[in-house]
Parts: sequence; C-alpha cells; structure tokens
Amino acid sequence: MSISRRKFLKGVAAGSGLVLAAGVPSVEARMSKELPPEAVGLLYDATLCIGCKSCMVNCKTHNSVPGGALYKEGLVPSVADSLQCKFTEKKETMASPPYETEGVKGNDGIWDASQDLSGKTLSIIKAYRNGTAEKKDTAINGYAFVKQQCMHCITPACASVCPAGAFTKDPKNGVVYYEAYRCIGCRYCQIACPFNLPRYEWDALWPEVRKCQMCRHRIKEGKYSACAEFCPTGATIFGKVTDLREEAKKRFAMKPGTMYDFPIQTLDSKETNPQAVAAYADKVYGLTEAGGTQNIMLSGISFELLGLNKDIPNGALPDLTWAYIAKVPWVFLGVALGGTTLYAITHRKDKNGKEKGDIHD
Ligand code: SF4
Ligand code: SF4
Ligand code: SF4
Repeated sequence: MSISRRKFLKGVAAGSGLVLAAGVPSVEARMSKELPPEAVGLLYDATLCIGCKSCMVNCKTHNSVPGGALYKEGLVPSVADSLQCKFTEKKETMASPPYETEGVKGNDGIWDASQDLSGKTLSIIKAYRNGTAEKKDTAINGYAFVKQQCMHCITPACASVCPAGAFTKDPKNGVVYYEAYRCIGCRYCQIACPFNLPRYEWDALWPEVRKCQMCRHRIKEGKYSACAEFCPTGATIFGKVTDLREEAKKRFAMKPGTMYDFPIQTLDSKETNPQAVAAYADKVYGLTEAGGTQNIMLSGISFELLGLNKDIPNGALPDLTWAYIAKVPWVFLGVALGGTTLYAITHRKDKNGKEKGDIHD
C-alpha cells in the first residue's frame, strides 16, 4: 500500500510527536529539473591527481567557519586553528570538533585522519591499488585516486525525498544545499541518493545531515570552492558547468600523449600545468548519470574500479525514489531512532577493522 507524501508527513507527525509538516517548502519550490544557465561545478580529472589531500584540508578549513557546511555555533573558528593546539586543551569548549580525531593511536587527538565521508568530512580522496601498484592510472599492477563528494545532481533525489524540506537546489547556480536546522535525521536523502553521499553526525544527540555544499558561502563572496583553490595540479577545477562539460569532452577526445596546458584552480585560470594527456577510460562521468550532475569526473581506469556504482540509470531519479520510500514509512522512524546506536556499532567496527573507505584490489 502506498501513501501520499502529505499523508505520510501527517502520520509521522501525529504518531511520533515530531512536528514536521509546518513550514516545509514544497519540492517544486526547492528544486528545478533543468540545469540553470549560471550553474557552477567542479571537474575532477583523476589522471592529474597526486593524492596530496590538500583539497580535503582546505575543504575542512573553509567549511568550519560561519556559513560553512561544517560550522556549528560554539566550535573553534577553523580547523587550522584547532590543529595548532592539542585537542585536550580545547575539548572543554568544543561540543564536537569539525575534524576526526579517533582512529589514530598515540597522537593525542591532534591529527585529522578521515577514513571516509562523515558528519565531519565533506570530501575525501581515496586510493585504488592493484598488485605491485607500480604504475599510476593503471588497472593491473597500478594505482589511481578518486575524489568523493556530493555530485550536485541536476535533479537531486535527496531534495525530492526529504520530508523536512531540508534540501534546496539553488535556482541560479544549481548548488544543492541543506538547512541543517530542518534536518530530522531520517536518512531518507542518504537512501535516495544514487551515489550514497550524504552523511550524518551520528555521534551527536540530534544528528544533522552533512555534505558538500560547493562552498556556497564562498561563492556568495565572489570566491570559489576551497578544494579547487588548494589543488596544486589542476586535478580539481571550478567553473561554469556548461564550460566544464565541454572541457571534459575535449580532453576525453584528445590523443593520449598530446601535450596540454591543464588549467589550475579555475577553468579560466591563466596558471596552467602542462602535461601529456592520459589515456582516459570509460567516459566523462556525470554527463548522464542520474540525469546528469554538476560535478563531473575523468579517470584513467574504469569508474567501477574506483568504487562508483556502474548501475546508476541515466534518467533523473526523484519521482522514482519518493514513490519507493513512501511505501516503506517504517524506515523513517526506525532509522531516526536507531541511527545513533547504529553509528556507535559501526564506528567500533571501523576502529578494529580494515580501513573502511579504501578501495582495495
Ligand atoms: S549526489 Fe546525492 S546528495 Fe548530492 S545532490 Fe545528488 S542526490 Fe543529493
Ligand atoms: S566544493 Fe567546498 S564543500 Fe565541496 S568538497 Fe570542495 S571544498 Fe569541500
Ligand atoms: S584533487 Fe588536487 S589537492 Fe586533491 S589530492 Fe588530488 S592533487 Fe591533491
């Protein structure tokens, strides 16, 4: 038996005592199904990535300030500031640090050692390794890097299913952002996301969603994504989505070995990194997946080997996902109530087990 979204919200609010329906903006008001003409995004070219993780550091630093996706009132203003002192000295004043300190032994809590996307990590660089791991961007006896973060879908499934109206797609630049105060921790967006990217603060009393917001607080100031700003090789660049798509298609069509001036930081940058074009595998990822995404990727090995789901349909998913989730409303309460416990269990396993986020051969 299926139920309508409105009936579902009423039922949940009445049955659980949670007041959700009041003031929830309609799905139509929160998202479009078209790429806005001024849409911005990122092009990640894995063949240029050296795995330095500078992008991750700058992501945390610039998202831990007011307006940033990791900021919470009462926290220290930046990760850089946090790292200059011992965690033990600051913990009295910090409800929950915006960086991860667990999982690294004997460091007294001063290292950021993110192992996967989480409520404190909006983007992550992972490594593929096979055999002797001698040659970069090679499937057999090679290695490669991949950057994970929200893809900023043209038609975002997360915004479609969120019963609290926490997600919105900016009508001008297409950035998919959330208003954390609206989040009820139900995880519907995580279930709906075809790339499994939203994360939660499961160690918080009232967990909120966290994901990349394309540094929209910086875009408002005329700046661009912090990850692209710190990338030394041009592996991650920021630009208009229409231009990034053309750039990616151009690279993909070039003969391997051709010298090319890869722009650094932004697509229109005058600073470049001259390199021979690599042999690209598969396709430009993000042109059609889930109806297309504003962040797109190129790689020297297949995206499947990099851990990306090869079965994502090419059409937009939102209508399909809401139709599915509306049939199983019990998931909502189960996840909302059990999430923190679930976090504790999985977190303990992560500490003892293999690095969960790594991609191994
Ligand atoms: S990748 Fe997932 S979280 Fe990001 S916009 Fe698309 S559906 Fe939403
Ligand atoms: S766009 Fe901003 S929030 Fe998103 S991964 Fe890059 S630095 Fe982090
Ligand atoms: S994307 Fe750039 S900054 Fe990030 S790890 Fe790769 S080379 Fe370093």
